[in-house]
Amino acid sequence: MTFAKLGLPATLAAALTDHGYKQPYPIQEQAIPAILKKKDILGIAKTGSGKTASFVLPILTNLQKYPPARNRQPSVLVIVPTRELAIQVGEVFQLFSKAQSRHLKVVTVYGGVSINPQMIGMNGVEILVATPGRLLDLTDSKAVQLSAVKTLVLDEADKLLNLGFKEEMNRILSMLPDQRQNLLFSATLSPDLDGLRAILMKNPVTINLTTEEKIDIQLIEQSSYLVPNEKKGPLLRYLVKSNAHSKILVFASSGYKADNVADKLRKNGVRAAAIHGKKSQSARKKALQEFKDGNLPVLVATDLLSRGIDIEALPCVINYELPRSPKDFVHRVGRTGRAENAGVAISFVSPEELTHFKMILKKNKLWMELIDSNMLDLHGF
Ligand code: AMP
Repeated sequence: MTFAKLGLPATLAAALTDHGYKQPYPIQEQAIPAILKKKDILGIAKTGSGKTASFVLPILTNLQKYPPARNRQPSVLVIVPTRELAIQVGEVFQLFSKAQSRHLKVVTVYGGVSINPQMIGMNGVEILVATPGRLLDLTDSKAVQLSAVKTLVLDEADKLLNLGFKEEMNRILSMLPDQRQNLLFSATLSPDLDGLRAILMKNPVTINLTTEEKIDIQLIEQSSYLVPNEKKGPLLRYLVKSNAHSKILVFASSGYKADNVADKLRKNGVRAAAIHGKKSQSARKKALQEFKDGNLPVLVATDLLSRGIDIEALPCVINYELPRSPKDFVHRVGRTGRAENAGVAISFVSPEELTHFKMILKKNKLWMELIDSNMLDLHGF
């Protein structure tokens, strides 16, 4: 299969080849023709499946046929739950918009930064990528109007519904015209999502890639250590220092803990940064960029990063503390081994966490041996 055969114009197909997209991923094969035909889509697929391009490419193609949008009235609205995902999706739109004859103005907005440049930036917007709260600030201040939206995308829709965004989402939806194309992407098929599907969608084309997702996590090389809490720091430093992995993403249970783990790594001569909800937007962006570029070997994060964020060829994920839900375990571990790259995932399990760990494994149909950290000499780490 080729991108051109899916109905994308030759210039775009050529740009895709230039960017290393040799052939469409399964979600793209299914979603692109349907979106080109203006159908509604419910895509159940995790990040890493290629879902961003699966909606970006046909949306850009469809927009070429429309006259330019009226001022401050975007034709396409993409809502995402986090700033990082907003930036990432905005960048994919920008990248491929350049390959087209009519360049489309893409604007990305999120909270935690000054609103003024974003208000000015709404001039001439055609594609708006936004987090819910900041979008409402902008509509409240009349910087943008949503009455001309032709295509609505909800990315990570399950999260948009779970995170207490519900009220904001209802307000946003009430501003949109009834006649529009709805594209929903979600990592899980939650009951909330079912409700939304009923409200939003007319006979959507459903694309469900969850079975392939399970296979992915089974393929990741996983190991776990039984380790008391006070030994987790030394074990982490031992693994970081003796490990050949160029990038290690460490998950902690809270922002406070993430800061603490990163501090201790730095004190021991390992370059590390923490990233969590309480960090400023600029600090989060800088740390993530450095990590993506390979200039920061260790990033310590809370579950903020377990979904949605794509870090190319991430070789190693460490659960310093276990997540509460078995699903979050899959999301965290799924940060590695994505887009066909092999990955390693290591979990630290304290004696107190043992029962919880067994439950996580059972729910995810996983099995692995617990290595006793007493077997390792951690002196000096
Ligand atoms: P996503 O699930 O949208 O976050 O995409 C995951 C990663 O796969 C991104 O780094 C994309 O650039 C990459 N990607 C998406 N589609 C393709 C494709 N058809 N061929 C190669 N890489 C792709």
